Amino acid sequence: MPRTPEILAPAGDMTCLQAALDAGAGAVYLGLEGFNMRQMASRNFSLASLPEAAERCRARGVKLYLTLNTVLFEHELPALDETLRAAQPHIDAAIVADWATVEACKRFGVPFHISTQMSCANTATARFLKAQGASRVVLARECTLAEVDAIAKNSGIEVETFVHGAVCVAVSGRCLLSHDAYGCSSNRGECHQPCRREFLIQEVREGENANAAFVVTPHMVLSARDLCSLPFVDKLMAAGIASFKIEGRARNPEYVKAVVTAYRAAVAAVADGTFGAALAERLTADCARVYHREFGCGLFHGRPGAGQFTDTDENQATTKKRHVGVVLNYYPKAKVAQVAIQDQTVAVGDRLSIHGPTSGVVDLVARDLRRDDEVCTRAERGTWITFPCEERVRVNDKVFIVKGTPC
Ligand code: SF4
Repeated sequence: MPRTPEILAPAGDMTCLQAALDAGAGAVYLGLEGFNMRQMASRNFSLASLPEAAERCRARGVKLYLTLNTVLFEHELPALDETLRAAQPHIDAAIVADWATVEACKRFGVPFHISTQMSCANTATARFLKAQGASRVVLARECTLAEVDAIAKNSGIEVETFVHGAVCVAVSGRCLLSHDAYGCSSNRGECHQPCRREFLIQEVREGENANAAFVVTPHMVLSARDLCSLPFVDKLMAAGIASFKIEGRARNPEYVKAVVTAYRAAVAAVADGTFGAALAERLTADCARVYHREFGCGLFHGRPGAGQFTDTDENQATTKKRHVGVVLNYYPKAKVAQVAIQDQTVAVGDRLSIHGPTSGVVDLVARDLRRDDEVCTRAERGTWITFPCEERVRVNDKVFIVKGTPC
């Protein structure tokens, strides 16, 4: 029986964290403002919000990991100490990529995982990192399945791999494109993703037959497909990986919910012997409902060929959500929500998704619409409605209508 891996979910904010917990993640990773690889993401936790995040995780028996995985400069060392001192009581481990952070974690008694940014891609490195005190290593994304298998079985340290989400065309942590183009370093969490854009290459030389120009589109050379490991989750489990990491701290709560749910189902099916191609296909379709680029298998099956680049950077989600309005009230006894309709019209049978920092992601189909106790079949912008909502939602939660392929 293969080991059951932890499903490790990304959390960009409290709504995503709650969605991860409700979907059954075994662990959550998040970043604070500073020292993490998602500095450009509009959302990040703060030291002030960390205790609440930790409390919610502990109440569910879920581990909480703090990403501190940027390269550090001299002037940042005091702030690193301050962050670790304050975070230490609230986290189960830090995810690190700089030896200064390793040293500081040891001083503050914080268990640490080696970030994929350190590019550990062989057993000898993994053993060395263990000898330095690491309790887990997140392997380089460039490892094939056979290499992951060998490292997990022979290194004596827990191994974590990314199983889903965006993939860089560069070796993890070695990309200078964003820094060259915009002065914003990917290795400081500031990537502007130039690999996803189109470029015009213009010949500089002047004179006869000069000034040639070529358009370089992402699918020609740069933009890698998103990783989706669902079709071969059984093989990843057989390799003895301790933790399945889902990329996407900049992605939305519905992404966290859908992807955690799908991987949990896949892992459970492998464990009870019901995993197969049909289930993998259905779960992949579930993940395709939310934000993603074209799916690929990453580098697990060898070096990438042309088939691992995406033709477009556009979101390929099979559903789209549109803002409807906000929750005005929730009546827990009647299990009824009251919602102000600010944008989209809502009609009976519409699929709604309600998002909030305490509620997480609550999905339902609109039925029994009422206004002032009058039954109605639709509600227009500028009005309000009530409808049954089994799960508790909160005042000011955002309400969306979801169009496209149903689950
Ligand atoms: S530019 Fe693209 S390949 Fe480079 S770090 Fe950013 S996302 Fe990754």
